[in-house]
Amino acid sequence: MDILDFKLSVIPIQKVEETFLSKAGISLSVLRTDLLHPQLSGNKWYKLKYNLLSASEKGIDTLLSFGGVWSNHIHALSAAGRLFGFKTIGVIRGELADPLNSCLKDARENGMRLYPVSRELYRQKNTPAFINSLHDQFGDFHLIPEGGANTLGIKGAAEILDDIDVSPYHTIAVACGTGTTLAGMLSSVPPQVGILGFQILKANGYLKREVEHMIQANKLNTPDNWHINDQYHFGGYARITRELHSFCKDFMKSSSIPVEPVNSGKMLFGLYDLVKRDFFPQNSSILAIHGGGLQGLRGFNY
Ligand SMILES: *Cc1c(COP(=O)(O)O)cnc(C)c1O
Repeated sequence: MDILDFKLSVIPIQKVEETFLSKAGISLSVLRTDLLHPQLSGNKWYKLKYNLLSASEKGIDTLLSFGGVWSNHIHALSAAGRLFGFKTIGVIRGELADPLNSCLKDARENGMRLYPVSRELYRQKNTPAFINSLHDQFGDFHLIPEGGANTLGIKGAAEILDDIDVSPYHTIAVACGTGTTLAGMLSSVPPQVGILGFQILKANGYLKREVEHMIQANKLNTPDNWHINDQYHFGGYARITRELHSFCKDFMKSSSIPVEPVNSGKMLFGLYDLVKRDFFPQNSSILAIHGGGLQGLRGFNY
């Protein structure tokens, strides 16, 4: 399939009906990017799109990237490789279990070559020495950083809101791993719409600096109307508490929107908590981005 012919379905926006929200005068809607495509769901497709196009323009038939054993990005990359005819290599942090978990099993079935490396080596993933050694081993490839966090990823993420009238919303909320999705959306929203990112990993102020760096390095013309909340990481990346777990279960039941606890679950928990703390002014209208990643739910016992 041609990359530019890949037609996305129109992304539905679903309103969340909860008494405490209407009592607080808050309207909360969810942008269901999880419904884009069965394998290539959510923000990962957007971050991959221009990486695929760039590789294809350069005549490079292999894509290589990095991720953990439950990485939504690795999962999406393998699906993209299969759909658009690229070879894919996934450099995986840590050991491969035997049998593989369902994420990596899908990746392998999509034709991805899995290359596990130790955690120490994985930490060097951005160093020229390590990347050269990967080239020695695998030859020519288009490298996509972990999480699709590069200029082409930002460019794609800027398209998430393309078909949506964002003017009724005061705040757009998004879960942030690398911050690429936030940076992309920031370059495409009008200045009166604020963006509130929820940092899902534990590292004080880390994401704000990352996003500032991305804005500078890519000379993005962005409004200042964005903020990162780093209070809802629940102890770190992919850390989940009983409280978060039951929040996600309750949310799925009452809204019928499936969410995973690593990204969207933390964002929604944060949003609910902030509403309860009167963080948002009365009559605020919030659009929360559902980033997809539901394949990762298979790693939890729901
Ligand atoms: C990857 C992911 C994110 C984070 O995206 P970044 O661009 O890395 O900030 C958010 N939500 C879901 C479901 C994801 O899979």
